Amino acid sequence: MAGIALRDLYMKSPISVQQWMTSLYGMKLWQERYGRTYANELVVLANRSKEKEVVEADQLKRLNAFLQFCETHNTYYQRLFKENDITLPLNSIEDLKRIPVLEKETVRKTPDIHSNIKIDILGRTGGTTGASLQVHFTKEDYQKRMAHVDFFKAQHGFRKGMKRASFTGRAICDPNQEKPIFWRYNRPLHQLLLSLYHIKPETIPHYVAALNAFKPVVLDSAPSAMIELAKYIKENQIQLEFQLLAIFPTSETITPQGRALLEEAFQAPVFDQYASSEGAPILTECSHGNMHLHHETGVIEPYGEDGEILVTSFTTHGTPLIRYRIGDRMKIGEGTCACGQGGTYVTSIEGRESNYVLTPDQRKIYEGDLTTVVRSLPNSVIQTQYRQSDVYHIELKYVPDRERFKPEHEEILKHELELLFGKEVEITLTPVQSIPRGPNGKIIVIDKTA
Ligand SMILES: [Zn+2]
Repeated sequence: MAGIALRDLYMKSPISVQQWMTSLYGMKLWQERYGRTYANELVVLANRSKEKEVVEADQLKRLNAFLQFCETHNTYYQRLFKENDITLPLNSIEDLKRIPVLEKETVRKTPDIHSNIKIDILGRTGGTTGASLQVHFTKEDYQKRMAHVDFFKAQHGFRKGMKRASFTGRAICDPNQEKPIFWRYNRPLHQLLLSLYHIKPETIPHYVAALNAFKPVVLDSAPSAMIELAKYIKENQIQLEFQLLAIFPTSETITPQGRALLEEAFQAPVFDQYASSEGAPILTECSHGNMHLHHETGVIEPYGEDGEILVTSFTTHGTPLIRYRIGDRMKIGEGTCACGQGGTYVTSIEGRESNYVLTPDQRKIYEGDLTTVVRSLPNSVIQTQYRQSDVYHIELKYVPDRERFKPEHEEILKHELELLFGKEVEITLTPVQSIPRGPNGKIIVIDKTA
């Protein structure tokens, strides 16, 4: 909801009026998302080639068009290209390396990083590493991104107009609302919006009943909310009265155990996407489990020794991101994926830079590896959280699956952790009922108390 006055009005209104206002807001989103650019991009995608050479040539063409735009409409890049003797067009993607890396601090501190163009969607704040960033989007960029995400969903059977249910961090219910109706229906988008903030053990049955009544075809949202529901469904052996085509996690990295739990509870496949709010290029999961870069949206290149990546994003005309150090880490795949799609793909997306545990020999162990410790167990751990007070002491909190967890699984966990951290580290294992969500509905994976 835009504007504080409107928000207040919404909160004071009866639920029936809130439903109506949610649909009105849906109309606004509809117009923002599904215009001519959206339709054109879907046509481009429907006719896209899988051939490696065609994909690479098309990516270079789009890169040059984007750089040309920056040279014409953006004083920061005009200056940067001049200082570094960059002449356009570039002859290859490799030539991009001659342009200096763009740090987050530069985006935050440089006023003319924003282009001299009309901005349709103002200052969406992004920056998932904690600091907030202002980025400007044009309507065209936004629509293109929507087209790519919808194209991905269509590949897995979901088409616009089918029913979807999404957990949202937007305030859609009054915090003190008494009636257990923690969802609103966005009619134009056929979307049931469920409030993330009201999920508690005592409210979960209401959520399940609402989903049973609505019968969604897909679920999409940050994984942690869906995981809490999945846990409840599994533990109480709830029979769902709908069959999902797919589950689409957004915004957070989904862990292997989170994925397994969702697939088991909802009896539907999970397909992941990477489309950060700063406007990074889009990657989506294919049916072979790899994440493919949509080459029409940008370039991804490895940076340094640590698996870090730089992104260049063609859908950032408002605040152009060229060789932007986004803070994410990815494992870039070799050769061509078994699905046949040419171009860059990644085999895993690691957590954000800040999510790691430090060992006595100063090694950083990142989220991606931390979540693998449960791999040798038969899906008997539902969630994990690490807590590190100093390099010699690590506590692993875990939520055991009551039916499957056996006492000897603790030994297996200890052994796996020892392999990861080394023998000098003292490891404490603490079984817990649940792991609280942090701000933004996220599960904090690592809590550095020191
Ligand atoms: Zn693939």
